[in-house]
Amino acid sequence: MCGIVGIISKQDVLPDVFVGMLSLQHRGQDSAGIISYNEKMNLIKDEGLVSSVFTEKELEKLKANIAIGHTRYPTVGSDFTIDAQPFMVSKPYEIGIAHNGNLVNYVELRKELNLKNNCVVSSCDVEVILHVFAQALPEEFSVEALFEAVKKVFEKAKGGYSVLMIIKDKGMLAFRDPRAIRPLVVAEKTVDGVESIAFSSESLPLTTTGFKLIGNIEAGEAVFVNQNLEITSKKLAKENPAHCMFEWVYFSAAESILENLEVYTARINLGRELADAWKKTGLKADVVVPVPDTSRTAGSRLAEEIDLPYREGLIKNRYIGRTFIMASQVKRENSVRLKLNPVESEIKGKRILLVDDSIVRGTTSKKIVKLLKDHGAEKVYFLSTCPPIISPCFYGIDMPSKAELIAARLSVEEIRKEIGADYLLYNSVDALKRALGIKDLCLACLTGKYPVSVPKETESEFEKKRIEERKEHK
Ligand code: SF4
Repeated sequence: MCGIVGIISKQDVLPDVFVGMLSLQHRGQDSAGIISYNEKMNLIKDEGLVSSVFTEKELEKLKANIAIGHTRYPTVGSDFTIDAQPFMVSKPYEIGIAHNGNLVNYVELRKELNLKNNCVVSSCDVEVILHVFAQALPEEFSVEALFEAVKKVFEKAKGGYSVLMIIKDKGMLAFRDPRAIRPLVVAEKTVDGVESIAFSSESLPLTTTGFKLIGNIEAGEAVFVNQNLEITSKKLAKENPAHCMFEWVYFSAAESILENLEVYTARINLGRELADAWKKTGLKADVVVPVPDTSRTAGSRLAEEIDLPYREGLIKNRYIGRTFIMASQVKRENSVRLKLNPVESEIKGKRILLVDDSIVRGTTSKKIVKLLKDHGAEKVYFLSTCPPIISPCFYGIDMPSKAELIAARLSVEEIRKEIGADYLLYNSVDALKRALGIKDLCLACLTGKYPVSVPKETESEFEKKRIEERKEHK
C-alpha cells in the first residue's frame, strides 16, 4: 500500500501537500517523494519518513501551484533508490506520476514495453502504467487524448490502482482502476478567494488541510483539472466496483471517509458484530482489551454491547512503526517485542477479551497472547474483527504469499492452538458485509474469488519476489 495526495491551486500548494503526506504516513513508511511543476518539473524522493525526507529548504525548492506527494510501502518493488515514487517521463511532454496499488499483469506488460524500447528501469508497476499511458498520447495535447490514453491503461494494466499525474503546463489528471479497488477521494477549498482542488488515497490528509470532501473518483473514471481549476471527468470503463474491505478493517485512518463510509463507523459496527458472535459462545470474561491502535474502536463497541469494562491493557510505543507494514520478518518480530507494553494491573488474574483487527501471519498474535499470559492473564480469548484471511492479495496489500497466511494453512482451532489463545473468534464474512454495509466489496483474500483475475505466473512471481525481499531485508 501507498499513500498519494495531489493538489492544484492558484497559489503554492506545498504546505498542504507536506501536511497531507504526514497524515498519510500510516500507508507507507519506506520512502517519501514529491513532484511539483513550476516552469519545470521538480522531484525529490528518498528513503524514510516524510518528516525526515523533506526539510524547509527542500519544500522551498519544490514550491509550486501543482504537486503530488507519495508515501511508499513496497509491494512489488523492493529497492527504494530505484522504485521510490513519483516517476516522470518527458515524451510526448513532461508528465509526473504517483500511484497506489498493484498490477497483476506487471511482468507481462514490463516485458512487452521493454521489448519495444527498454523504457522500464524500475520494478515499480507505476512506471509501467506511465509508459503505457505516455505511449498512447499524441504529440498534441487535448483532454480527450488524455482520456483515450487512460482508456488504454484500463485495457492493458490489470489490477487495483489509483493514479495521480501532473501534466506539464496543463493540469492534474486523476483516475481509478475499472473496479475501484484502491480508494481515491476528491476535495476542494477556497481560502481568501483562492480555490484549490485535491485528490488523495483517503479523506484525512485533505480534511486536515481544510479541504471539504466532494466525494470519490468512481470506478473507471478519469478526472482532469486544468490550471484554471476547471474540471472535466469521464467514465471510461463499465465494470462493477470491488472496493478493498481491508481499507476499513485495517489500513485507512479511523477519521477517513471512503465511499461515503467513515472508517471509524465501520470499525464500531465490526465491534457490534463481534459482540453478537461472542454472546453466542456462552463464555465469560472480565475485561475487553484492544490491541492498539486500529482495534480500539471495535473494542470499545464490543465492551459496551456486552457490558464489560474496556481497558487499555496494552500501551503502544508510538515511535515503533506499524508491524504489518515492515517488509522483513526479522524487523517484524523485533518490533512486536518493542512496541507493546503491558499494564499489569489490567491483566493479572483477568479473563481477557483481546480484540485485534485481523490475524495475517499469526506471529504478532502469538506474541501478544504470550505477553498477556506472561503478565498474569488467567485466560486470553482472541477476537478478530476481520474474518480469516485465506488468500493472497495481488492488488496492493502486503500479503501475497499463501505460505505466509496462517488461515490458509490451519483451521480456526489449529490457529487458536498455534497462537496460544484460550478461545478464538472471527467475525464471519457476512458479519463483515453487514458492518460495512457496502454492496460492492473486494473480499478476495477472504473468499479466494478475485474481481480481477490473476494469471498463474503472477502468483508464483509474487511469491518468489516476496521471499527474495524478505531475504534482502534480513
Ligand atoms: S484481496 Fe483483500 S486486501 Fe486485497 S484488495 Fe481485495 S479485500 Fe483488499
